Amino acid sequence: MAADLGELLVPYMPTIRVPRIGDRVFKSECAFSFDSPESEGGLYVCMNTFLGFGREHVERHYRKTGQSVYMHLKRHVKEKATGAAGGAIPRRRNGKVFLDLELNRDFNGEDYEYEDEAKLVIFPDHFEIPLPNIEELPALVTIACDAVLNAPSAYKKQEPESWEEEIQVSRHARSLRQLDNGVRIPPSGWKCQKCEMRENLWLNLTDGSVLCGKWFFDGSGGNGHALEHYRETNHPLAVKLDTITPDGADVYSFEEEEAVLDPHISEHLSHFGIDMLQMQKRTENGHHTDNNSRPRVSEWEVIQESSTTLKPL
Ligand SMILES: [Zn+2]
Ligand SMILES: [Zn+2]
Repeated sequence: MAADLGELLVPYMPTIRVPRIGDRVFKSECAFSFDSPESEGGLYVCMNTFLGFGREHVERHYRKTGQSVYMHLKRHVKEKATGAAGGAIPRRRNGKVFLDLELNRDFNGEDYEYEDEAKLVIFPDHFEIPLPNIEELPALVTIACDAVLNAPSAYKKQEPESWEEEIQVSRHARSLRQLDNGVRIPPSGWKCQKCEMRENLWLNLTDGSVLCGKWFFDGSGGNGHALEHYRETNHPLAVKLDTITPDGADVYSFEEEEAVLDPHISEHLSHFGIDMLQMQKRTENGHHTDNNSRPRVSEWEVIQESSTTLKPL
């Protein structure tokens, strides 16, 4: 069974993230409605963005982003059974409660008992994996699930921008054509091919050109050579070179005119000789930022391990 569940999840492994400090995990309320784990359909937490969705909204999120794996959280609320004398039957009170929820109910919580349930759900077939399942799940999935369950709940009223501006998977990511032009990009020391800019540089994922930005959302300066190049070639996706780390990179779609997700970023970078696992975030002056670089690498070792050495237990 271990191999079966593990193999089932392999295609989705690049989309399953471990929340980090700073990631907001919306596990108490739907981004678009008032659905919560206490709602009839429970709450689905995207295992990539950690946004929460009620049953009415999760399908749409799946269709829009292609994100298949969600953690489904459900809090079962039952009226307490009472004994002959009218007192509660003695039992371990709320022993199965593990969700960190703000209880909004206006009735007396003492009269109810709660039981929390978590499982992974894979769309579109709604395949369900009850949690915890340490024996059968790839280690990274268990780490990600534990981190989601242990993260403090984020509430959309506190952080409106974080749930409104969800980054979507680019429609060009899956079918991106990459030219076999022999271009190899070194891991550092980049310069714009058309000017002297050494910062705010964007690698075009179709042809490997390295050109400066200008008008990008992050406000950094440049001469706009990357955009100019897109207008000449229609090559849609570019990655900001100094953002590449073992767990991702900032990708921009000229054609979609927004920041996008590229689930195949590792493959797209290796086409031009960039090994994402060896890359560390750089500051403007080229120094490494060492924060969390060790844990990031070891997480990726876990991914590789779990996708290549699945053995039945
Ligand atoms: Zn998502
Ligand atoms: Zn330039």
